[in-house]
Amino acid sequence: MANGRLVEPDVKFINGIIQTGGSSLKKCFQCATCSVVCPLSPEDNPFPRKHMILAQWGQKQALIKDPAIWLCHNCNDCSSYCPRGARPGDVLGAIRAFCIEEYATPKWLANMVRQPKGLLLLFGFPIILFLIVALLNGTLPPKGAEIIPHNFIPVITGVDIVFVPLAALLAFSLFKSLSRFWKDMSMGLTPPSAYQMLVKGGWWGILYSSLKEILGHTRFRKCGAAKERTVPHLLLMWSFIGLLVVTTFVFIAEDIFHVEAPFPLVHPIKILANLSAVAFLIGIFWLMKNRMTDRDSVSTYWDWSLIFVIMAVGVTGVLAEGFRLAHVAFLAYGFYLLHLSSVFALFVYLPFSKFAHLAYRTLVYVHEKYYGKS
Ligand code: SF4
Ligand code: SF4
Repeated sequence: MANGRLVEPDVKFINGIIQTGGSSLKKCFQCATCSVVCPLSPEDNPFPRKHMILAQWGQKQALIKDPAIWLCHNCNDCSSYCPRGARPGDVLGAIRAFCIEEYATPKWLANMVRQPKGLLLLFGFPIILFLIVALLNGTLPPKGAEIIPHNFIPVITGVDIVFVPLAALLAFSLFKSLSRFWKDMSMGLTPPSAYQMLVKGGWWGILYSSLKEILGHTRFRKCGAAKERTVPHLLLMWSFIGLLVVTTFVFIAEDIFHVEAPFPLVHPIKILANLSAVAFLIGIFWLMKNRMTDRDSVSTYWDWSLIFVIMAVGVTGVLAEGFRLAHVAFLAYGFYLLHLSSVFALFVYLPFSKFAHLAYRTLVYVHEKYYGKS
């Protein structure tokens, strides 16, 4: 008699997938159309058919450590062709949500981020924190005739004192999560020899080619149904990079060279900030419109909460700046407080929400190139 292997389904995982957008999971009858039509599925290890059956069987551990779930860009070409309406694209999206939660450090924060009641806490906590910071600095209410954001929340003893330790904690948390994911993905694989690494250009060569693909959205562009999502996605990504440059510049200018913001409207950094803000808003509203009109995919709280937080950052930033220029102090300071709190929420969101796809997908590209699969 042949030796059998008992498969223990993780029922909680199956139900979780069903609640996170994969409600059609059980309709799949393994025809493999999805793997054939997927423009990103490799011949030697195709997806998502295999993932559909593993998800039906509740094989959580096998699924969450599989790098292939991150090679999918959720274009839903497969869902459009699936004869059973099983929406494999959404099922893969739900598996990715579990992957992020499983590797999150600490896990309770990931749990909180996944629930609607967590959103209130994510915004409420920083609002109270910044008000306490302003109170301790003696800047509540803000003084001075001119509206300057830092008259309300000072740079070093207000913004920096909150964001610098927060950034360090989140970088540590993300590092821990990604290290565990890398270790699990690499189980049983043979690392490249020194010569093979030399051919790949070493770690820098691998990182460079991975980033080149991500910054140009090379794979995303191959997806038919996702064509209209490429431009807003690119706009959002490049505006984030622009705003990161602006934030770093302002941080160095104020903390090291003691040059006071805000800068004049014609200052290059201000121009970059305003252009990035416009691209940011166009990108997020465009993505929102696409999501609302996309009939091939299901949108859950997991998808909408990220869009909401990103939108809050953009809208409050623009309103704070607009009211500052219009000399409406109460609203300018009010929206500045909401803006800082939204940025805080977005930061906290990074390792625990859908936003973490930035880090996980980049890591999988690097992993793929390191182990010689692309
Ligand atoms: S998800 Fe749809 S297309 Fe893919 S194997 Fe199942 S039934 Fe076929
Ligand atoms: S959603 Fe797109 S990338 Fe993902 S499996 Fe389906 S066809 Fe492939």
